[in-house]
Amino acid sequence: MPRPIQATIHMAALQHNLKRARAAAPDAKVWAVVKANAYGHGIERTFDGLRGADGFALLELDEAQRMRDLGWRGPVLLLEGVFEPRDLEHCSRLGLWHTVHCDEQIEMLAAHKTHAPHRVFLKMNSGMNRLGFTPQRYRAAWSRLDALPQVDEISLMTHFSDADGPPGIAQQLAVFDAASQGLPGERSLSNSAATLRHMGALPVAGQAALQSDWIRPGIAGYGSAPDFPEHDAAYWGLLPAMTLQARIIGVQDLLPGDTVGYGSTFVAERPMRIGIVACGYADGYPRLCPSGTPVLVEGVRSRTVGRVSMDLLTVDLASAPAAGFGSMVTLWGRAASGLTLGIDDVARAAGTVGYELMCALAPRVPVQVD
Ligand SMILES: *Cc1c(COP(=O)(O)O)cnc(C)c1O
Repeated sequence: MPRPIQATIHMAALQHNLKRARAAAPDAKVWAVVKANAYGHGIERTFDGLRGADGFALLELDEAQRMRDLGWRGPVLLLEGVFEPRDLEHCSRLGLWHTVHCDEQIEMLAAHKTHAPHRVFLKMNSGMNRLGFTPQRYRAAWSRLDALPQVDEISLMTHFSDADGPPGIAQQLAVFDAASQGLPGERSLSNSAATLRHMGALPVAGQAALQSDWIRPGIAGYGSAPDFPEHDAAYWGLLPAMTLQARIIGVQDLLPGDTVGYGSTFVAERPMRIGIVACGYADGYPRLCPSGTPVLVEGVRSRTVGRVSMDLLTVDLASAPAAGFGSMVTLWGRAASGLTLGIDDVARAAGTVGYELMCALAPRVPVQVD
């Protein structure tokens, strides 16, 4: 028997979440962002759930090839564009659209031999200071691209640093609008947070209204809230697309003063039963989750005790007295009881975000699709 740990990808949740993103921006086309192997869910496994999107956005040629192998003939966008001249040949061959964010990428295009001109997304650095042309240099980059026979249509793009928090998008949006004013082409501005918070039916008070021809939801599609803990997934009507579960493979009865796990960080204050669960940090469960991190034991809310180790973690059985060897523990996602434990709640306990947990699901964990 394989080790009793299992991740489940929920097709219906992916479809539902995609509809939620669409509903927030009904006039926009949707890039389903499937970089990082669909945020750890698997490009092949999520395809049926996300194929209602208008296109797929990702980073790597290998992932783009996999989209084409799945039979997807629609738009595929490389969010970071190309890294070396040879990549452009693959763009031509696979019919990929690509971001252009720096002069080096324009040089590569100018030297590229192709019969079919490329559709490009010209990226502006509107204040985040990662990738993109500064507002001052944006128009010149557009003109250079426009003059290239290798380039077909040019779309305009930027990325917000604070769509999920109080600074909001107003300043970057104003910069983008001013620097792109009068330029033709479709606009793509909004990640999940910008889509839900600034375009949807529940706009955050006092924030600028946003138009975007192509939205770029990633995390929302997978059912995690981009602005947790201000809002949770339920607030946005999102459903978890990934459940991680493992069984209890050992039980211990503790007396007051007994300790649990490496470093003896947990000390029992009273007699208690604990379950030892076949999941550890080598499966992708964060080692930084302290005692008290929420879990569901047989669908009932409980907590971890002691340190997470490589292959095991430990849970308190007080709230599930009937639980024992073989009982199912839900680390995040949906339990058979119907109760849901948000990946965001677990991430917060570890001092991180749901994104990191789902992306870190380890290859050794078997994955099923339902
Ligand atoms: C990853 C990414 C997104 C998606 O962001 P979410 O917060 O997951 O919605 C959108 N745009 C770009 C450029 C990205 O790199």
